[in-house]
Amino acid sequence: MAEEKKISRLVDVGELEADLKKDLAEEETKGKAADILFCESISDELGDLSNLPTIDPKTLRPVAHWGDVPGSYKDHIGKDGSWFVPTTRCTNPECGEINPCSLKTPFCPMCGFRMEDVPYDAD
Ligand SMILES: [Zn+2]
Repeated sequence: MAEEKKISRLVDVGELEADLKKDLAEEETKGKAADILFCESISDELGDLSNLPTIDPKTLRPVAHWGDVPGSYKDHIGKDGSWFVPTTRCTNPECGEINPCSLKTPFCPMCGFRMEDVPYDAD
């Protein structure tokens, strides 16, 4: 039997994320009576949703951002200790391009994703 080809769906998950965050906040207000498994499953779902690929609705181009690599600034402390530059990483899970100079370009040089945290004139 031939494998059925799956159809990709473009979905704005913002409303779903807001609902889940509200449910989580409501459950957490119960303190010790809160259902831990319920809270964990909502947190897991929110994590999964935040890892989904995104696109710029104007250009339909895939979007990522430069994320700081935790602790990386230690390698870049200046001689006088007055400045530091964190290493950044492309957040596209299939890319992960590392930028040790923290130069934030509007597009990832490796995967070409639009980096949403960097202003770009064409926007
Ligand atoms: Zn990239």
